[in-house]
This record gives sequence, structure tokens and C-alpha cells, in this order.
Amino acid sequence: MGFYKNVKLYFERATRYLDYDKGLLNQIQIPDAIFKVNFPVKTRRGIEVISGWRVHHSQHLLPTKGGIRIAPEVDEDEVIALASLMTYKNAVVDVPFGGAKGAIKIDRRMYTDEELERIIRRFTVELIKKNAIGPAIDVPAPDYGSSPREMAWIADTYKSYHHTDIDALASVTGKPVENGGIRGRKEATGKGLCIALKEALSIKEDMDKVGLSTGLSGKRVVVQGFGNVGYHAAKFLQENGAVIIAIAEIDGAIYNPNGIDVEKAKEIHRSEGTITRYPDANVIPTAEALELETDVLLPAAKENQITVENAPRIKAKIVLEGANGPTTPEADEILRKRGIMIIPDIYANAGGVVVSYFEWLKNLYHIRLGRLTKRVEEISQMRMLHAILQLIGKTMSENELKKYIFSADEREIVFSGLEDTMVNAYHQLRDTSMKHGVDLRTAAFITAIEKIVRYYLNMGIFP
Ligand code: NAD
Repeated sequence: MGFYKNVKLYFERATRYLDYDKGLLNQIQIPDAIFKVNFPVKTRRGIEVISGWRVHHSQHLLPTKGGIRIAPEVDEDEVIALASLMTYKNAVVDVPFGGAKGAIKIDRRMYTDEELERIIRRFTVELIKKNAIGPAIDVPAPDYGSSPREMAWIADTYKSYHHTDIDALASVTGKPVENGGIRGRKEATGKGLCIALKEALSIKEDMDKVGLSTGLSGKRVVVQGFGNVGYHAAKFLQENGAVIIAIAEIDGAIYNPNGIDVEKAKEIHRSEGTITRYPDANVIPTAEALELETDVLLPAAKENQITVENAPRIKAKIVLEGANGPTTPEADEILRKRGIMIIPDIYANAGGVVVSYFEWLKNLYHIRLGRLTKRVEEISQMRMLHAILQLIGKTMSENELKKYIFSADEREIVFSGLEDTMVNAYHQLRDTSMKHGVDLRTAAFITAIEKIVRYYLNMGIFP
């Protein structure tokens, strides 16, 4: 079954609990605009025609927002599905953007860095020609197969064509910090996943239902996909006391019930091109890793990884969806019937878009977060401490006092905004799930649809 059809099934499952005009629900669910481009690029092999897409799924709020995927097997159905997930995700975490997604259909390994740069820049030009990219139109970001480097190329190309637009850097997020990016964006999706899991694990009533104690400390985690999302999530989870017992990559998985050192595994992944050379673990087949005895399974690779075929053998108590669409609707039903809790993608992996929103704001403000207020906050804390000391009749040197002053830098501000967003959204979903007696995914779709419906009902639809 197609990926987009899967998302539609989840959407329709949620609408059973809602009583809205069918036409309006159709408007929310059907993509607003689909841009398909084919363009020539010169490579060592000669001229090649490359295909790409950008789907603006919902333009009810502008700009639309979503990543750019670079993969050989990508197709239009996949991009529409991913774009629609972005619409719902943005609504769930109150990011004031419509949903979008893009893709370039190439096998990255077939191209040199120079050729890849040419492809990315030409793709950006194709979007500019269609007026399909811009700070107030549509703002891409990294996704599977793309990284801050590609975002810098997009920003530079957009800027070259809009050299008088002072906001040009806000045309794309996930840029390197030196090129208008924001500290914490690269790690944001992984950090958000860690916050989501911690929040879920903090509620005793829910953990009793799945047979887990509260708290992250000592919880066993299996991670599938060791790219941006999987690596950063594993790193934050380990730092917060979880034990990463297995990491599965495309060419094999490593397993050690006593835990894997995430940094060491990444070092080996980077230097050797595979995690299977990690010394202190057994190498097992990738598919087997998903079925290991564990507390948490974190799929962070691609869609359709937990299917009707392997769902009956998944032994995790919680599935924390790092990837978009990793669980098919049939598998979702099997897991739920087996009492496995699913923390759904459109909430769990929203950390990236939340911090992308902060980056977009930073680009429009043209100032690093905290730069204007940092000193003032330090001085006001210092004054307050002085006043308290005076009241209790004590004194302290300026240097001693400084030890008690908290001054947040950009990364801390970003992570505190992210934590606040993820924690609030979790409780919104949980309340909705209790109100309707549904699972968290259905609750997430209900929450998203209700917010978008309210938008349309208040604004109306242009005649
Ligand atoms: P990435 O390209 O950085 O990493 C993906 C990793 O998964 C690669 O190392 C790849 O080798 C591995 N992989 C692919 N197929 C696999 C398989 N069958 N088994 C095991 N490993 C496999 O991509 P990413 O940015 O980490 O994205 C991963 C997923 O998370 C995607 O579904 C993406 O849409 C989603 N996502 C990404 C972000 C983000 O900020 N990058 C945000 C939200 C959601």
C-alpha cells in the first residue's frame, strides 16, 4: 500500500471522532500544490536529466515548511505523504506554517560533491522559477539524505536571485550556524525525541499499562537508522541514562545487551563507513534488531519499517517514531492490540521543525537569540541576589555571586523553547487521547485537524 494512502487512513481514523463538513476535511487532506521538475545537469558521465518534487500540502498558513529528501527510490506518492505529515506535525506543535516536502531522485553515491552542488543549486533555481520557494512562500530544511551543507547551497542560490531581499536567508532552515543557521538545529529532532520519551516515561499511570517503571534511567533502547535523527536521539538518550543496546544500519546491526557507546559507534560509522566494525558488540541482521527484547524501539531510518509482517514479533514496550511513517496502519493496529505504546511521528520527531521555526525567526529578526537581553538578565539576577543578601545581612564578592548567575546562550534558549513546546504538546495529545479513548496517534491527528478546521472556520474560504 502507498505511503500517502497510509497517512490518509490515519487521517480518516481520526475523523471518526470529529463532526466536520466532509468538503472541509477533504480540503485539509488533499495537497494544495505539486511541483514536479526535470532538469539537466552536467556530470562526469555527460548530461543527465534529474527529477525532483516540491509539494505544498497545505498553504492555509504561509510559509509552508518541510525537508528535502535525497534518495534514489523516492517518488511523488512519498513526497505527498511526507508533505501531508508536515501539515499535521506543524499543527500539533503549534508551529505557524503549512506543510511541505521536497525530494530529488538520485543515488547520492553516484555523484561527486561538485556534481551534487550543481544538482542542488539547479533544483533551487527550478523552484525559484515557479515561485515555489521563499521566506514567505515555502522554506525547505534537511531530511533523509540532506544536511546543513545542502541547505547552505540552497540559501546561497536563493540569495543570488534575490540579492535585494534582506530576508533571503530565511528561505531555508537547517543551515550551518555561520550561514544564518541556529545553534541546536542539527540535534533538534533527536533532542525532541528524547524529551518526548522522558515525558511519556514520567507518567506512572501510563507506564503501569505498558509494564514499565517510570524514568529514562536504565531503559533499554534499540535504534534503527544512525543518521542525523538516530544518532542524536541515541546520544541524548544515553546522556540521560538510557542504555542503547542495539543500533541497526542499512548494512547490519550491532548488539550488546550491556550497552553501546554511541560516540564511539558514530566515530566508527564516520571513519569506516559502517557501524559493523564496532568492536564491543555482536553483528546481527538489521531486521533482527527490530525484534530484540527491549523497552523502547526507535525507528529513525525510513517509512514502512514496521509492517504486518514483523509487527507480531516486535517485543518493545514503547515504539518511539523518529522516522516519518515507520509504522504501517495494519502494523499500528497489531502493536496497539498487543498493548505496545506508540509515540507517533507527527509529534515525536517534531523537534526539527520547531527549531527550524526558531531559525526562521532569527533570520527575520537578524539577531542571535538572547543577544539583546543576556547582559540585562545577568544584571537583574545580580541585583536580586544583592537584595536578598542585604535582607539576610550577608555579603558575597562579585566573583562568588557570578557562580549563581544563569546566563543562557542561543543553544540553551533554543533547547528550552523546544522542551516547553514538546512537553506542552505531549499533554495536549494525552488529554485528547483520554477524552476520546484513543491512542496517541489518533489523538495527534484529531488535535491537528481540529486546529486547522478552526483556522478555516474563522477565516473562511476565499470565494
Ligand atoms: P539521514 O540520511 O541522516 O539518516 C538515515 C540513516 O538511516 C542513514 O544512515 C541510512 O543508512 C539509514 N538507513 C536507511 N535505511 C535503513 C534501514 N532499512 N535500516 C537501517 N538503517 C537504514 O536521515 P535523517 O535526517 O536522520 O532522517 C531519518 C528519518 O527521520 C526520515 O524518515 C526523515 O524523514 C525523518 N525526519 C528527519 C528530520 C530531520 O531533522 N533530519 C526531522 C523529522 C523527521
